[in-house]
Amino acid sequence: MATVQYELNRTHLAERNAYAASEKAILFDSSRCSGCKGCMVACKCWNMLPSPMELNSQEWNASLQCPYDLGPNTRLTITFRELDSTSPYRPVDWAIGRRACMHCTDAGCVNVCPTGALFHNEDGLVTYDASKCIGCSYCLGACPFDVPRHIGKDDLSGTAIRINKCTGCPDRVSHGMNPACVTTCQPGALQFGDRTEMVKIAEERAAALKAKGYENASVYGINEMGGTHVIYVLKYGLDGYELPANPSISWMTSASEIMKPVLGIGFIALVAGLGACLLSGIGYRRDELRYDEVNHDVIDVDTGDIVKHIDKEAGER
Ligand code: SF4
Ligand code: SF4
Ligand code: SF4
Repeated sequence: MATVQYELNRTHLAERNAYAASEKAILFDSSRCSGCKGCMVACKCWNMLPSPMELNSQEWNASLQCPYDLGPNTRLTITFRELDSTSPYRPVDWAIGRRACMHCTDAGCVNVCPTGALFHNEDGLVTYDASKCIGCSYCLGACPFDVPRHIGKDDLSGTAIRINKCTGCPDRVSHGMNPACVTTCQPGALQFGDRTEMVKIAEERAAALKAKGYENASVYGINEMGGTHVIYVLKYGLDGYELPANPSISWMTSASEIMKPVLGIGFIALVAGLGACLLSGIGYRRDELRYDEVNHDVIDVDTGDIVKHIDKEAGER
């Protein structure tokens, strides 16, 4: 298992070096988030993700966290967790988090996608080409953060977009703009820029929070999954947020990576075998035979040779 993971990491490190110079990241500082959900609305507006009344009635849950989870038309949701208060003046502390694609370097979804529909773009963000998606749903099981959702088709355009997840807004970023969610955030909880810069800011913010008495404050995403391109400042530490402590690619996903060359060799062998059968069959012609009813012989028409004598007296047929 360790070998499998090592091989994967080596592949992704090589990939990563290719785009390291321009790696970008979204920074989410939970200590600055007011929970306004403006980013969720901006994501829906920019990416034309519908939110019709019927969908709202299905997803409405009367809690602050609404929709509760990601969905076919929801790439981003803000999470709320109630914690024991650290202050005598407040009844509770609210840990406000963000749930969307983490844009992993070791991205399980990219590893398993058989058509290359999911891929790292030049900024290191994991985006997708809907025209290449065949709807196999492998990426759904390969993501350690349970992010991609099956959509079937785009409700507005009717075109076959089979998977939905945060793309990092490449149509904005490639034109020098920030992702839609980042642009709309009023308290500055979201930032976008060079990944090294975002990591530096996150570490400084976590240190400042610790100095203020939030001793569990930490940074998430520096090393997880080979380094994610969404970096979190966790005001209350990992326990306050919907993030796994040790995310990893499942052994089945790793095995599928290892099996790709084996399956490829198997497929080539199958094609070669079929080709050999075809070649060996070229020129083959079945012998033409006739039956001599007088002598009860089976005779080869071309050579006149008796192939077989039928002994009628012995009851042979
Ligand atoms: S827009 Fe900013 S402050 Fe509002 S919920 Fe999103 S991240 Fe938090
Ligand atoms: S969080 Fe999931 S969907 Fe996003 S890049 Fe990582 S593996 Fe892929
Ligand atoms: S980066 Fe774009 S697609 Fe991703 S959550 Fe923000 S607005 Fe939505």
